[in-house]
Amino acid sequence: MPRSGAARPASRSPRRPGEDLTGVPRDGGRLLEGGPIAAEIRQAVGEDVAAYVDRRGKPPVLAVVICGRDAPSMVYLRQILRSCEKVGIEGRLVEVDGEAAETSVVETIAGLNDDPAVNGIIVQMPLPPTIRLRTIVDAIDPAKDIDGIHPLNAGLLRLGYDGFLPATAHAAVEILRRSDIEIAGKDALVIGRSAVVGMPAAFLLVKEDATVTVAHSRTQDLPGKIGRADIVVVAAGRPGLVTGDMLKKADVVVDVGINVVVGHIRGDVDFESARRVASAITPVPGGVGPLTNALLLTHLVRAAERQAAVH
Ligand code: NAD
Repeated sequence: MPRSGAARPASRSPRRPGEDLTGVPRDGGRLLEGGPIAAEIRQAVGEDVAAYVDRRGKPPVLAVVICGRDAPSMVYLRQILRSCEKVGIEGRLVEVDGEAAETSVVETIAGLNDDPAVNGIIVQMPLPPTIRLRTIVDAIDPAKDIDGIHPLNAGLLRLGYDGFLPATAHAAVEILRRSDIEIAGKDALVIGRSAVVGMPAAFLLVKEDATVTVAHSRTQDLPGKIGRADIVVVAAGRPGLVTGDMLKKADVVVDVGINVVVGHIRGDVDFESARRVASAITPVPGGVGPLTNALLLTHLVRAAERQAAVH
């Protein structure tokens, strides 16, 4: 039973923050928390890993390549390695000197591609400025590209086929699916058009039969477009970009943004004002983030199973 984005009156006057559709003040929209969903996914992954180990006699292996030590991404990568450990996946940290030449990073990746013990590869982002993203992305074996950044996987998604999905975009849509939010037929607005988040989220929403608009830094009248959307996915990297007064329908808001603002993690949505108006909203932290991490583990197990099937 869909809990939001459901049929609504064709026309009505805009609500004020804190009022529901009848003008009655309310406490706020449903909170879409990623933690409990991620725990469910990790539980299932743990069972899949145990079955894999039973059959193969060894755990699936994720290689995490880091070039230099960018602090925020190190936090993220450590979290991934901890999550691997908890479900029985072997995580390997592969360090390349931050000053290393692009060729040595490519050689490192080639070695992991050729290593049959390694099932999945992720590379720390952002890369040092001397290393071209495209070269690194192209170097990863698409069969081990569990974060869906290789052009082959991006193309498969574009065509609606089953490749590996970028985990964050996958999480942004999966949190809606697992929260029984109706997507089919809804007007979805994705704010952000990056190759890793915005565009794949938009393609996934199209695949779920939403009608999708993609907004970006040159978009005119963003508040108007937000006001017309049933589902708003925000991945702009701009803290507080979306505020409650922009939400005119019973919007579902998925906040992908992770921004550090005076020492606190903040999303791209002004949570307090948006929650008063939205029908459902993801918090930051605790929304899309935990799901991203858990889904990446499912991608790794899928990669390992696929590789086992062809060898
Ligand atoms: P990016 O900088 O590559 O892309 C940002 C996009 O937002 C661009 O397409 C840009 O045109 C658009 N944009 C910027 N300002 C805008 C504005 N004022 N109005 C409309 N559009 C605007 O960023 P990204 O890598 O796609 O990441 C987006 C956000 O998601 C960041 O906050 C990032 O930290 C976060 N993120 C979260 C996770 C997670 O697991 N939750 C993972 C990766 C990234």
